[in-house]
Amino acid sequence: MTQLQGIAASSGIAMAKVYHLEAPDLSYTTTDIDQPEEEVKRLHAALDISKSELEKIKAHTKESLGDEHAEIFSAHLLVLNDPELIQPIEDKIKSENVNAEAALDETANMFIDMFKNMDNEYMRERAADIHDVTKRVLAHLLNVTFPDPALIDEEVIIVAEDLTPSDTAQLNKDFVKGFTTDIGGRTSHSAIMARSLEIPAVVGTKDITSKAEKDAFIIVDGINGDVLLNPTEEQIGTYQEKQNEFERKKQEWAKLKDEPTVTSEGRHVELAANIGTPEDIEGVLNNGGEGVGLYRTEFLYMGKKQLPTEQEQFDAYKSVLEQMNDRAVVVRTLDIGGDKELDYLDLPNELNPFLGFRAIRICLERDDIFRTQLRALLRASVYGNLKIMFPMIATLEEFREAKAILEEEKTALRNEGQNVSDSIEVGMMVEIPASAVLAKQFAKEVDFFSIGTNDLIQYTMAADRMNEQVSYLYQPYHPAILNLINTVIEASHAEGKWTGMCGEMAGDSIAIPILLGLGLDEFSMSATSILPARTQIKALSQEEMASYKDTILSMGTSDQVVDFVKEKTDQAL
Ligand code: PEP
Ligand code: MG
Repeated sequence: MTQLQGIAASSGIAMAKVYHLEAPDLSYTTTDIDQPEEEVKRLHAALDISKSELEKIKAHTKESLGDEHAEIFSAHLLVLNDPELIQPIEDKIKSENVNAEAALDETANMFIDMFKNMDNEYMRERAADIHDVTKRVLAHLLNVTFPDPALIDEEVIIVAEDLTPSDTAQLNKDFVKGFTTDIGGRTSHSAIMARSLEIPAVVGTKDITSKAEKDAFIIVDGINGDVLLNPTEEQIGTYQEKQNEFERKKQEWAKLKDEPTVTSEGRHVELAANIGTPEDIEGVLNNGGEGVGLYRTEFLYMGKKQLPTEQEQFDAYKSVLEQMNDRAVVVRTLDIGGDKELDYLDLPNELNPFLGFRAIRICLERDDIFRTQLRALLRASVYGNLKIMFPMIATLEEFREAKAILEEEKTALRNEGQNVSDSIEVGMMVEIPASAVLAKQFAKEVDFFSIGTNDLIQYTMAADRMNEQVSYLYQPYHPAILNLINTVIEASHAEGKWTGMCGEMAGDSIAIPILLGLGLDEFSMSATSILPARTQIKALSQEEMASYKDTILSMGTSDQVVDFVKEKTDQAL
């Protein structure tokens, strides 16, 4: 048995066998062959398996993410059916007597080089398609497994160095019972996706990929952050008990599904959910979400070959608003950059992407992209209770400029005869310390704040949220963070505005009593955290927590804060 400690990223216990999700070794040697006809047959066998896999992935993606995302696989299938690519490969096998691997790779590379340098976006996309499908066919020729999370059809736990958000989006919950990675933190996007998929996950174990053998039995404890490889029978029994206990708790929490969130003295606070796609709304409603506090729209832009159209975005926003049926939906405009890349945008490679060209900075420079999104949002606004917020605002000028563009598009749409709601609140995320410090000035101009602690903590503590080496500095309860949060809440209330929090801290059981005491109005979290949070809040008195505010804000360390909160709230955490 080997035990590793990581960061608990998504709660629950999962047990199954290991499935490594890693790039396969596709190296081959060029060899002479004497039976070209056999080699052509081998090529076609590999092409056929690849096609049937792509058909399955396409169907799965269509079901889980919608038509637009599935289109990539239609493009891949077109490549595999294109005689202009396949015929030259066959010709090469026959005329040069080389093996299928070499004929495929060399021919594909020739086309890739040719298309890649063309001044035509469509052809450049074809180069990327050829590159992607060639790897799959080559893997089949070499008889090595090409990992496809969407095709897993037995119960497994995924073990990977890291998962991209699009890997995570492809996971089939029926078979993928959990995942564990070498790198990442609680607020890395794979962890956030795991929570919205309700799959137990432990990230940042440092070396699970090198320790876990293929098909070994593994336990992922997403409650405490433990990973057990080849556990003993006794340990399996203990974890089964823990799993049952977790299920019992879930049933207990579920009783509060249709209840409002009230403190022990009956004061209401709003518990909202963070979502990435319209498909997430089902989980929000099942978990008793009172609204959507953060819709991360960048997932509409990811895992695709081009920018989403205005209509495509409109459909997604309208669907979310309608499903939420007049409950508040806070949509965040595009927050790309940092760990969220868009291949087709050709953004510069930066030494410090989290401090670089991202989010509102990109949107203000590429206002064509921004305007398309705003138009889609404004058109959708009549279908529900829409609020719009801008990410990564550092200066008042940025907020003013973004809001002015929004107003311009509103006027333009109305002039075109389109209906636009006239009660859309416009707010901003507070995730850069500068805007927290200056909250008083911002509060005069915004309708609301939403504190993005995932980034606010990393920028305040200068500790990368993805880097497990410095995760000890990533301290949500550090008094510096709590004082910034307090500044923001006080500033908003002084102007009659409200403050929410959409960073992961909002669903954290130590943070919740503190935030209640600071007067936070809205807590937005992964859908699965809502019911435990509601249960906890029901037992807490807002007035009592508020009486501890000055004591907590004048503390010097995170540990002091944690000890104090535990003592006062009697929590065995
Ligand atoms: C945050 O920074 O807290 C936040 C909610 O945004 P994201 O995690 O998408 O960066
Ligand atoms: Mg952020």
